[in-house]
Amino acid sequence: VTKNPQQPEVNIGLVGHVDHGKTTLVQALSGSWTDQHSEEMKRGISIRLGYADATFRQIPGADAPECYTVEEETEDGAETDVLRTVSFVDAPGHETLMATMLSGAAIMDGAILLVSATEDVPQAQTAEHLMALDIIGIENIVIAQNKVDLVDRERAVENYEQIKEFVEGTVAEDAPIVPISAQQEVNLDLLIEAIESEIPTPDRDETEDSQMYVARSFDINRPGTTWDGLMGGVIGGSVVAGKLEEGDELELRPGREVEEEGQTEWRSITTEIRSLQAGGNMVDEVRPGGLCGVGTGLDPSFTKGDALAGQVAGEPGTLPPTREQFTMNVELLDRVVGGDADDGIEEISTGEPLMLTVGTATTVGAVTSARSGEAEVSLKRPVCAEEGTKIAINRRVGARWRLIGIGTLK
Ligand code: GDP
Ligand code: MG
Repeated sequence: VTKNPQQPEVNIGLVGHVDHGKTTLVQALSGSWTDQHSEEMKRGISIRLGYADATFRQIPGADAPECYTVEEETEDGAETDVLRTVSFVDAPGHETLMATMLSGAAIMDGAILLVSATEDVPQAQTAEHLMALDIIGIENIVIAQNKVDLVDRERAVENYEQIKEFVEGTVAEDAPIVPISAQQEVNLDLLIEAIESEIPTPDRDETEDSQMYVARSFDINRPGTTWDGLMGGVIGGSVVAGKLEEGDELELRPGREVEEEGQTEWRSITTEIRSLQAGGNMVDEVRPGGLCGVGTGLDPSFTKGDALAGQVAGEPGTLPPTREQFTMNVELLDRVVGGDADDGIEEISTGEPLMLTVGTATTVGAVTSARSGEAEVSLKRPVCAEEGTKIAINRRVGARWRLIGIGTLK
């Protein structure tokens, strides 16, 4: 099997405040992404996380940074060379979707932090998203100072200094800051150059046991399809280790809740991979990078309506344990991100409900025991997770869940 150059090999998060230009930038880099992704399976995956693939190219013989482009041909009709295809995860900017942002972050290899030059730094989600990158431990970051077409030189420099000051002491401290206009397509070559050098494709070992984070699941059958035409359930998500191949057996954890003699229990599900889709094509195998769709032999009623979102899939017998309760080390933030300076965070107390994001799973848990620096939680829906997994901890404050700290699974 030849490697498909259109299959993305790295996931790059697009983060930053609402209206700072994330979607515009993804469009400028990936061209006609809306029609490329019109098929049902891909559309389903992209709505939830918002994503698009872009192929970076190089003009043969040209100097950097002018050689970097996303065009297949130069203006004089010369063909450009493919460097690699990347997958952008466009994090939703809405404040209440922090958990989605964090679950997207679990599959990001690097990130572009978009900051509009037209506003003071930081705006609420600029701060919140940078915090999330810190939590998840995403260190390969490029900062794009966007909308420079709307400001004069003096304002651009002032804004640049604000960005510098804001990222000091954070994971983005040494990130390059590239002034761009996503809308006017200015300096995109410089941005691609920065991405190529700062966000390398991670080394992957394809002989490792396969593991996939499931972000979505669905039933692709039209209503009224008879049993002989029925397609198996589909799961969508990202391969994070090893590779998936058509015909492989696949285990899903936590699986399904089964009731037997009045007792309920979560049991993993085993199925087989019937088809694979990645980078817009049907493929024989999928490696980490980008999102993929997996056609399985599962009863589509199991996968309907995202029923399996947040689960982990992989080589049978190799997945992390299913946990209905766990203890985590807790590190509380100094204050609620994006809140007022005096919004201190109180200690976690026994009995309180928390919303926890573990990998791509978001689940509500009740605190059964809170000690200083540690909390024991009992979950409504179990998660499949390895010791050491980072957990985003959210507390209900008023009408919404707010990020209050970071847990590490013990
Ligand atoms: P998002 O919320 O971060 O995804 O922001 P959008 O990409 O939706 O952009 C918000 C608005 O800003 C839209 O009206 C864009 O056309 C506009 N915009 C984005 N980038 C630029 C830019 O570089 N220059 C100008 N002038 N407008 C921009
Ligand atoms: Mg957007």
